[in-house]
Amino acid sequence: MKKVLYIGFDDTDSLRGSCTTHLATLIIHEIFDQVSFLDFPNLIRLNPNIPYKTRGNGAVALRIEGEEKDLEYCKEIVIDKVKNLSEVDDENTNPGIAFVENIIPKEIIVHSQRAMWDVISIKEAEEFSSFSNVEIIKFKLGRGIIGALGAIGNPLKGDFTYEHLSYREPKKFGTKRLIDSDSIYSADKETPLTFNNIDYEYDSIMILPRGADPVFTGIRGETVEEVRKAYSLIKPLEKLPMQMVFRTNQHTNQHFSEKFSINELKPHISAIVDAEVTKEPRYIEGSHLIFSVSDSTGIIDCAAYEPTKRFRGQLSKLRIGDKITVFGGIRPAEKSHQMTINIERLKINELVKNNKLESPFCSNCNARLKSAGKNKGYKCPKCSTKFRELLPNVTEIPRELKLKDYLPPMIAQRHLTKPLVRKNRDNTSKQKQKIEINNILADLVKN
Ligand SMILES: [Zn+2]
Repeated sequence: MKKVLYIGFDDTDSLRGSCTTHLATLIIHEIFDQVSFLDFPNLIRLNPNIPYKTRGNGAVALRIEGEEKDLEYCKEIVIDKVKNLSEVDDENTNPGIAFVENIIPKEIIVHSQRAMWDVISIKEAEEFSSFSNVEIIKFKLGRGIIGALGAIGNPLKGDFTYEHLSYREPKKFGTKRLIDSDSIYSADKETPLTFNNIDYEYDSIMILPRGADPVFTGIRGETVEEVRKAYSLIKPLEKLPMQMVFRTNQHTNQHFSEKFSINELKPHISAIVDAEVTKEPRYIEGSHLIFSVSDSTGIIDCAAYEPTKRFRGQLSKLRIGDKITVFGGIRPAEKSHQMTINIERLKINELVKNNKLESPFCSNCNARLKSAGKNKGYKCPKCSTKFRELLPNVTEIPRELKLKDYLPPMIAQRHLTKPLVRKNRDNTSKQKQKIEINNILADLVKN
């Protein structure tokens, strides 16, 4: 009788190299002939604002079906690969694996939802091993079990995107990625359902990672066909032995699901806060932009840091009284600053009027009047007539901001940030059938 097995793993990589998706691709190559896949491999990005993470806090889940003995074989492969290929020498790499058989307990689904925005301890995640169909394996501190379970419990039932990843030959790791860059520009134009290939605003190619990791390209898009098409159109100048397509929560804003009042905020969560600007934006040392907002429960600083470039200029136009929704990560208080919302996105709900007050003109001689002192009206500097009751002229100067969403440029966005190009896109219930998934995976594994 066939059984279903969910496999999750996380925290296998380090800042120096390796990559959890690469490990997943190697595992898929080894087990593909033994089992069938219920889904593409899932790349699940979790709360990007937690302090313990390598590059993007991404975990992987595989959802497979097979005979008991084949599933046992798969478990062995996963354990072997995670044990031997993780960057365990790096003190910040603490891999974890989770296996769940047949039915995912609803407590793990709840854990996953929380893992999108909250900080969860290893101990809390470890408690799931009390379920009879859940198995947890820790290496070193085993922090990766938090993400491993988080990935398993997130079946991407709502909006999702795809990412096509290509991998380099090991001897090339750490060397410059060589590619015909014109081919990236034309692939971008020919595949309208891919996105974030190039940041045209800062003329920066986004599909090539910069680190020493095995990934050569990462192409993001709405459909598996479109990301594969874009990959077929680019011209790498080195041999790329492996590729894979992941279904992912990237670019869906999934980490912004919870609203908080200011007095409920705590370090490292990802939060949505409705508030009013109470202190005008100012630049501080390092060219970071800071302003304060408040609601009925308190006041907090908000920051747009230097790497967010023109985003700072836009937010610098906020004025006291503007009503906004802030989406961001909570930076804990330190000696140099109070607890601060690190803004990832800002929605403007209401703008105060920008009124310019000017002295009126003299009705006798047409000269511009001068104030005669507080509450004393005006006096003409030319003919000396006094106007005790006259009020200033009010001119409304249009605000430069609009009632809409503001995002940092692509180069400064998070993996989870839903870009403006996806504003009206949603792939909910556009999952593919099992047979088609296995055909596409077979094709990807072959080359
Ligand atoms: Zn006058």
